[in-house]
Amino acid sequence: MKKILIVGAGFSGAVIANTLAKTGEYFIDVIDERNHIGGNCHTERDPKTDVMVHQYGPHIFHTSNEKVWNYVNSFGTFRPFVNRVKSIYMGQVYSMPINLHTINQFFGKTFGPEEAKNWIKSKGDSSIDDPKTFEDQAKKFVGEELYKAFFYGYTKKQWGTEPRNLPASILKRLPVRFNYDDNYYNDIYQGIPEDGYSAIIQKMLDHPNIKIQLEKRFLGGSDQSSGYDHIFYTGPIDAYFSFRHGRLGYRTVYFKEHRTEGDFQGNPVINYADEKVPYTRVHEHKHFTPWESHSKTIYFEEYSKETDEDDIPYYPKRLDEDMKILKEYELEVSRLSNVTFLGRLATYRYLDMHHIIEEALDCAEKFINKQS
Ligand code: UDP
Repeated sequence: MKKILIVGAGFSGAVIANTLAKTGEYFIDVIDERNHIGGNCHTERDPKTDVMVHQYGPHIFHTSNEKVWNYVNSFGTFRPFVNRVKSIYMGQVYSMPINLHTINQFFGKTFGPEEAKNWIKSKGDSSIDDPKTFEDQAKKFVGEELYKAFFYGYTKKQWGTEPRNLPASILKRLPVRFNYDDNYYNDIYQGIPEDGYSAIIQKMLDHPNIKIQLEKRFLGGSDQSSGYDHIFYTGPIDAYFSFRHGRLGYRTVYFKEHRTEGDFQGNPVINYADEKVPYTRVHEHKHFTPWESHSKTIYFEEYSKETDEDDIPYYPKRLDEDMKILKEYELEVSRLSNVTFLGRLATYRYLDMHHIIEEALDCAEKFINKQS
């Protein structure tokens, strides 16, 4: 039997642990510095309202990969859930992502799909050939007015920098539609686990060959890593190397909690596009489980800021200076033979849950095949 250490009990670590444990050929220790499993996907019922709260902000599962969908569904029931986001700008409520309703409401029109397409095309900056920045991507595909209304202020608040400094890939996450489809995602499979994400991850880790230790920080060094044949590390890549090439930039988010009776905003997520509103969005968690009924409600304003040493890193900024530092760390990683770096923090990429699971499944399978 080989001995494996997994650092981090989020989706990456849990998928590796589960896949390796099922072979019956590994003893696996999973450590996590927090007092719960699940990483940033952790969910917990709020004792006062009984609402399932996504402790680190809302997570909606979506994928077009059938293998990933079947895999997660083997650990619990996912209920169908379509994320329909609203955005408030200058005292009006709009539909997000930008769709025909948003366009017609914003410009005071009654366009059909083709007219809207032509209208938006005429607004777009056709001189931009191959947009590299968030700003150029927006200007080319939705035009100045929609960009300034729905993306400029929100993005400045979210990322703490001008959108011209950010990569186009951030905006490419969002579709623009010329029909009334207001589903936030394009994926074939979309849902939320009935009993929350932590229950799914707990089930993945439920195996006699997996031992979980919480509130245990990975300090590196031979005392913690010796005795293991291999380590899967899912923590921040710069922390692994004691920040010797500098700290990578992350945005973190924090939440202001509110409670009231009944229904506060009538929707799971409402974005606040105006720059002068200090938060980016408000999420009301009982609307993520529409199959449940709760008389009370709990909701959170979400704020974004730079990540200090004690903050939880959320969003990798990937600015030019970060990418230079990342290269240095990646060079160090390439010299290590018994450590695999995977997941959002260890690879410093803006990944969704389905990406994480797909990559972890692939990584575990390759590792197993290499051993046999
Ligand atoms: N965004 C925006 N306005 C919105 C929603 C999103 O400007 O109303 C931008 C913002 O920069 C955000 C990015 O689009 O970081 C990606 O949005 P997404 O909803 O995917 O972000 P997440 O839910 O991962 O925070």
